[in-house]
Amino acid sequence: MALVVQKYGGTSVADADRIRDVARRVVDTYKNGSGVVAVVSAMGRSTDELLELAAEVSENPHPRELDMLLTAGERVTMALVAMAIADFGVPATSLTGSQAGILTTGRHGQAEIVEIRADRVRDGLDRGEVVIVAGFQGVDPGSKDVTTLGRGGSDATAVALASALSADHCEIYTDVDGVYTADPRVVPSATKLDEVSFEEMLELASAGAGVLMPRSVEFGRRFNIPIHVRSSFHDGDGTWVKEETMEQPVVRGIAHDDSEAKLTVYRVPDTPGVAASLFEPLADAGITVDMIVQNVSQDGFTDISFTVPLAMIDVAQAQAEVVAEAVDAGGVSVDREIAKVSVVGLGMKTESGTASRMFRILSDHGINIQMISTSPIRISCVISGDKIVEAVSALHEGLGLGGESTG
Ligand code: ADP
Ligand code: ASP
Ligand code: MG
Repeated sequence: MALVVQKYGGTSVADADRIRDVARRVVDTYKNGSGVVAVVSAMGRSTDELLELAAEVSENPHPRELDMLLTAGERVTMALVAMAIADFGVPATSLTGSQAGILTTGRHGQAEIVEIRADRVRDGLDRGEVVIVAGFQGVDPGSKDVTTLGRGGSDATAVALASALSADHCEIYTDVDGVYTADPRVVPSATKLDEVSFEEMLELASAGAGVLMPRSVEFGRRFNIPIHVRSSFHDGDGTWVKEETMEQPVVRGIAHDDSEAKLTVYRVPDTPGVAASLFEPLADAGITVDMIVQNVSQDGFTDISFTVPLAMIDVAQAQAEVVAEAVDAGGVSVDREIAKVSVVGLGMKTESGTASRMFRILSDHGINIQMISTSPIRISCVISGDKIVEAVSALHEGLGLGGESTG
């Protein structure tokens, strides 16, 4: 029997009516003869609301307790969806991540899936039930504590489960029609892509295209599970994220990210080991550093700039100040008002010129580039945060992404 793993995001289960719509869609798939596993997110903004509540009762909530709290969001949805499905006369059982056998590392808030023991899911399917699984969560088999996978983590739950259950593909139902050439809420003229390669989607997602969590794309690529991103509001085709695509355009899409801040350590003595002494304590503190730029050495001194998630900037600054003092650097400065815009496309591997076109377009709009980084299929620029909408729109237009649906 065919097996489908469907994931429904927060907006798609935001209220009772939408939960009934999701139930109807799951039931339709089931009645068409497929086994169905539905992975669900917390309702609407409820993860944010739980985080706000935690911040009201505690200045520094304990990571274990925060995960206990946040996992409750998905638990509410899974039970409601199961009830709604049962009302259609179809047997349905809900399982928490732990009950579904999703084993993770113990890093609360950022746990990684290490293994899926999907026996209970399979048993449910064998009994002819629809199985509803709470997304975004798992259990650390060592401590037996529940964990969460990081924001947007239900996508990772779904694709990992699809792989563990050998499903043909994974369906991600969301509040847009698919993956667009840019965030359609920022660029109204963005067009839906018919298909995008795992490699490009991984770059787009890592560069801020929030429609898929990067780790879900990694799972898709590693286990070759095609991902169909589509609307939960209608039946139209969405975007297929898969290994090979028909075309390899030079620019497939544009992503942006305003969730990082920039830190500069200036007048650092330009000697071996200084960069290591700066970045080692940051890594030990679990701070993920994204772009790094070291400027040209002058008089034996250099400036080092890097970006970190905004949420971690205070800790990063404190760490950098200690190191700056220890290595006798000039000091540390922080800029919270930055944003990153990235251009992604497989064709960049073989065709040159995209970087210069990107820089020219930004310059024509009077937008200053503060940092640049590249991969073989991506160019990213850090710019002033207040220019990000203009930059994304200008690049979308200038690099020829407007117009008919592309694939
Ligand atoms: P869900 O709750 O279903 O997981 P998300 O909010 O996580 O939904 O992801 C969908 C959102 O991703 C869209 O509403 C859209 O604003 C945003 N997004 C960012 N970049 C893109 C893109 N390139 N294509 C489509 N959506 C994008
Ligand atoms: N509810 C979680 C979040 O808001 C996980 C998810 O929706 O994928 O990040
Ligand atoms: Mg999401």
